[in-house]
Parts: sequence; C-alpha cells; structure tokens
Amino acid sequence: MIRRGVAVSARVLVPALIALGVVACVAPEAEGPVGTVITGARAYDGFGQPLTPAVVHVVGDRIVAVGADVDAPEGAIRIDLGDVTLLPGLIDAHVHITNSFSGEPDRDAATGIVGASTAETLLMSGFTTVRSLGSRNFEDVALRDAIAAGTVPGPRLVVSSQGLTDGLAAAADGDRVGEGEAPATEEEIRAFVRRRVEGRVDWLKIFASRSSRAGGTPTYSLQQLEWAIDEANKADIPTSVHAHAAEAARRAIEAGARTVEHGALVDDSVLDLMVERGTYFMPNLYLSEYYLENGDRFGYTEEQLGWTARLLPPRTEVFTRAAQKGVAIVFSTDANSGWVWSGDTAIEFDRRVAAGQSTRDAIASATSRAAKALLLADLGNLYGGYVADIIAVEGDPLQDINALRKAVFVMKNGTIYRRPEG
Ligand SMILES: [Zn+2]
Repeated sequence: MIRRGVAVSARVLVPALIALGVVACVAPEAEGPVGTVITGARAYDGFGQPLTPAVVHVVGDRIVAVGADVDAPEGAIRIDLGDVTLLPGLIDAHVHITNSFSGEPDRDAATGIVGASTAETLLMSGFTTVRSLGSRNFEDVALRDAIAAGTVPGPRLVVSSQGLTDGLAAAADGDRVGEGEAPATEEEIRAFVRRRVEGRVDWLKIFASRSSRAGGTPTYSLQQLEWAIDEANKADIPTSVHAHAAEAARRAIEAGARTVEHGALVDDSVLDLMVERGTYFMPNLYLSEYYLENGDRFGYTEEQLGWTARLLPPRTEVFTRAAQKGVAIVFSTDANSGWVWSGDTAIEFDRRVAAGQSTRDAIASATSRAAKALLLADLGNLYGGYVADIIAVEGDPLQDINALRKAVFVMKNGTIYRRPEG
C-alpha cells in the first residue's frame, strides 16, 4: 500500500481543525516558518548535476535552499529518506490523461473519472507536472482546475483539450475519421482556436499530419497553420503540433510551433531546423511496444500492428539522430490510460537511453528542459526559489535510468503525497 500525506494544505487545514477543537496540535508537513529538511544519499538538479550534500530545505510551497547552503533553524521537520536519490518532480510533456480504451463509454463524465484516476497514478509514480494534449469536451480543463484546487490528487496539468484537425484524427496506428467539425477556411480555423481560448486551455494542439501508418503526410498547409498559430499567439497560448513526416513537421516549425510531437518519420533537415529554431521535440518510443504486446486488449488488427512493428526501427533511428544533433528533446510518452494505469510510464526513459540519450540528458529532458519547453519558469529544478516539487527514487538514475521507475517519495507544491513504505 502507498502511504499518502494529507493532500489538503496543512496551512489551511490545521488552524481550521484547531479552531474546531478537533485537534490540539498536528505536525504540518513542509509548512510553518521553519519548514522541512529532506535528506537523501544523492541528489541531482534539473541538469542532472549532483548536489552535495543531498539535502533540500522547503518552506511552504517553495524550496529555500539546497546542498551546502541549507542552514535550517531548530524546529524544522527532518525527513531522512536514506539510500535514495532526490530529484525535481518529473514532467511528462505529452499524455492523454482522459483517454480510455475500456469499453469506450465516451460520456464526458466517464472520461473525467478516468482522468482523475490516471492523474493520481501518475502523481504517485513521480510525475508532478504533465501536459495533456487532447480531451473531447474540456474534461482536461475541469480536471486541471480540480487538481489545482486540491479536490483530487494529481500532477499539475497543462492542457489543450480538443486539437485542430481537418477531419482525419490521426492516431498513432492509423487515421480515424473524426467526429464533428473540420475547420479549413481562415474564418473557421480562427474561430476554432478562439473557442479553445474561451474554454481556458493552456496550449493549442494541431494535427498537421496523417498517421505514421499513412506516411505522416501533411494535412494543413503552411498558411492554415499560420492562421491557427497567429490566433493562439494573440491569447499568449503556445502551440503543439502533431507531425509524423518531414514536410508536415517543417510546416509546423516554420509556422511557429513551440513543440513538435512524434516526428517518427522526419529527416535530418527537419532535425537541423529544430536546432536552428529552438523547437522542442516530443518523440515517443515505448508506446509502440506496448501496443504490440497488448494489441488484442485494444482491438487492433493484425494489419495495424504490422505497421506499428515496421515503424518502430525508423522511429528509434530518428530519436538517435536527434540526440546526436543536440535537438531539444523533451520527455514525452503519448501515454493513454490503458498504459498509464500501470504507473510505469517512466519505462520510456529506458528506451531513450538505449537509443543513445545520456542518462544526464534524460534527467534534464524530464525536468529543467521540460519546464522550459512548457513555459513553467519556476519548476523543474532544485534551487532556492523554485516550487517544491521533489521526488525520491530508489537507486541512482545517473548509473541506471530505470531508477526513475522506482519513486518512493513524492512532494508537490510542498505537500507530501507519498512516503517510503515501512
Ligand atoms: Zn498524443
């Protein structure tokens, strides 16, 4: 069993309980003027660099000092986690938190419940922030707000809700004809983006290519992408573009996309363009393997799975070349709930390191670089002034990246959600 801390802020809860006469005194976690000092055997910052000694001082929802700078006053709560590695909370920049493969009830309420359950699983496995790219009817917006209000436990969410698509909702395994609208004219595209803005999304998501199985060819023209991104920019909303092959990805980058998703079939010229423009790359390797192992659970045909298998080697080669060229690769899984339920999305790290990413860069890609890509300025690192999102994992991820799959302690916004068992 996972032992969880109180998800409600102790700053609010404790005085209220004392006022009610329910408790005489409760030791708040990471609250109060002196705060909490967390110690491990090792600590890495958001660049994968060691912090020595491995100690972090938290007051309220902020880190106040780390390493040799920690000078905690008497009375601070001390948590010695023993032989663990302290790290900034992990960030997954591409999930679908409300997706469900189970029975496809597809009612908004049902997808909201799937999202809430998935959110808790993700948080407990060490992910304190995730970007969710796609939800049918703004369920992701509602979930983001519920988590922020402390109503349900979960990672901090940044969300796009429904993506802009020309009608072919390009899934990983093959095109599916989407329901509803398929904006094409300037007026339709700008109106679609404005409705996302009115729905209070954090990101615009555009499907700019067909599926990898269909060759990843472009759906929207450069001009159409520019209309959409321009409209999002007016509201200060960054844009994420799904693009599998070279031409669609090139149009996305030239139109001003901040992040390019998948890119399974892009060529060297596109990777070079990403470096030149500072575009963040959000590939995903493990999901294909998962589909191959569990295809029958999700109703995929032999033909679909055959494509998934054939596309895995080129997908991996693109990743290897991107790592060699110094593309700004960010940790992103494209996890859907059928997989996320297991709480092991961090297996993606293993495949990336096997494909040539260094363990240090893998840590940075899921912490400081991910925070930068998502424009979250005070997240993704262990320094004074940063938000207190801190995890501890068993083992040393610099030696074996699979340590990131073994979270034993999770703090988000200064509140402890998970502690080691026993
Ligand atoms: Zn996706």
